[in-house]
Amino acid sequence: MILELAKDIDPKQLGALADKLEWMGFNYSIHKTDERTDIAIISGSDSKVDINQFKNLPYVENVSSFKQSFKLAGKELREKSKTFQIEDVTFGQGHFSVMAGPCSIEGEEQIFNIAEAVSSAGAKILRGGAFKPRSSPYSFQGLGKEGLKLMQKAAAQYKLLTVSEIMDAEDLPLIEEYVDILQVGARNMQNFSLLKKLGKTSKPILLKRGLSATYQEFLMSAEYILSGGNERVILCERGIRTFEPYTRNTLDIAAIPILKSLSHLPVIADPSHGTGIRSLVAPMSKAAIAAGADGLMIEVHPEPDKALSDAAQTISLEDFSKIMGSILPVNKQLVSV
Ligand code: PEP
Ligand code: MN
Repeated sequence: MILELAKDIDPKQLGALADKLEWMGFNYSIHKTDERTDIAIISGSDSKVDINQFKNLPYVENVSSFKQSFKLAGKELREKSKTFQIEDVTFGQGHFSVMAGPCSIEGEEQIFNIAEAVSSAGAKILRGGAFKPRSSPYSFQGLGKEGLKLMQKAAAQYKLLTVSEIMDAEDLPLIEEYVDILQVGARNMQNFSLLKKLGKTSKPILLKRGLSATYQEFLMSAEYILSGGNERVILCERGIRTFEPYTRNTLDIAAIPILKSLSHLPVIADPSHGTGIRSLVAPMSKAAIAAGADGLMIEVHPEPDKALSDAAQTISLEDFSKIMGSILPVNKQLVSV
């Protein structure tokens, strides 16, 4: 339910109304823009809540039901995308950010070399897996805490933000300590108990699309995080499983404009996992930008063939620098039109 409030409502009156809703047992959140103030009642299904009980509340001018089930991730409350800041990097409408780094952090020399290259190519965010969701329990599982410490050191030296995957809610205190953005991987997109916990963290979340998730399911997963109170969620299209075995996944380029039309959240693309093939990273990066992506995530390594995970899709530091050189003009041109 959306309660549209009187334009001249003052903070005291808003507080009294909020207390009343709390007393009535509703879970709500307050949304202010320059034009209006709304209260979103987010508990319960709208069809089961009696609309009349809100109509006579003071300062409530209009009451309407949410049409979409992704109430906070959708555009009913917030038509325009709200940008958010992580240190000096802005995410959202009109801003473009590149996250690059190894699939797995493998050691000090590797992550420092990569951090230097990522930074000099103009990217602002270093990615690196420390807790890896591998298909085989016998494959390299990541360096864990040691890896996060190395990435934090390398990022500090080159003034980069960091992003790394959280696989288990148990690791939240550890990962929060070392990483700026917490990644939820495709395999955990519907791990609802993890998503609920991430709704309570102060760190932004990079939420990757599940291997066979619909847009609706993807946005409902974002809703779990948003409804817990964490407003800083970035969506990542990383390819879906289709009948085509040539590529590792099928990067769903249409997902980018569709998600942006359904949601105010920033949408980035991952052409590395999205294709699984090194030579496709550059063309798919451009395609994603042309489709309106707010950023990219790319796997890079000084010696791609020797990467301990995802070697086939990992590009060299030189190729990354070339991509950055070629996409930034494309991006600028698109943003300026
Ligand atoms: C990753 O980013 O290294 C990763 C495992 O991604 P995904 O969850 O998209 O497979
Ligand atoms: Mn990977």
